[in-house]
Formats: sequence, structure tokens, C-alpha cells
Amino acid sequence: MDAAQQARLDRKKKLLTELAELMIEEQVAEGLFLGTPHCSVIELAAVHLGRELSCQAQERAARGVAANCSSEVPCPTCQTLCPVEVRTRDVKSTHGLVELPERVADCPQCRRSISFE
Ligand SMILES: [Zn+2]
Repeated sequence: MDAAQQARLDRKKKLLTELAELMIEEQVAEGLFLGTPHCSVIELAAVHLGRELSCQAQERAARGVAANCSSEVPCPTCQTLCPVEVRTRDVKSTHGLVELPERVADCPQCRRSISFE
């Protein structure tokens, strides 16, 4: 493992520890620890936190893909270079609703949409 990988692992562990602390702080503020909380309540809050992370990671990854795409694409029918736009759309993922950028291009010659798969 190189130094950059180790630094990412250390940072991730630190951030996870901080997220766990924040989650517990929220539960303390809600009075959950006035008694002895059932572990399933804590586990459920952690699962929700994980789902939030999943949605953010999906959005971040999709933004990266969209940022690396070219600004023009040849029409598969007539080869006209067509401008590529990035629009966002809501997608229901396994862990919740995510707003994903989507590449869109329309050929002005053929009057067709070009799909990106
Ligand atoms: Zn075309």
C-alpha cells in the first residue's frame, strides 16, 4: 500500500468515526440515551446514515463521469458533430432518490436523440 492509499484509509476512518460521533450526538439530543437504547434503534440510524452516503457517492461518481465526457459526439447515423448537454434527472436507487447528471445530445440533421449507454 502506498502513502496515498494509506492516507485515504486513515482519512476515511477518521471521517467514519466523526460521523458515528455526530449520529450519537443527535440521538443524545433527541433523548435516546436518557434510558438504555435498544441496539436496533442505533443500528437503524446507522443504516440511514449509510444510505445517505450511498446516495452521495452515486451522485459524485455520476458527476465525475459526466465531467469527463466530450462536449460533442458524432451522430451514429449522419456523423454530424452534435453538442452534448448534461442535464440532471432524479433516479430511484436502492438506497434512495439520487440526482444524476445525464448526457444528452440531439442531431439537428436527423432530428434524433443520441443515446449514451
Ligand atoms: Zn444525424
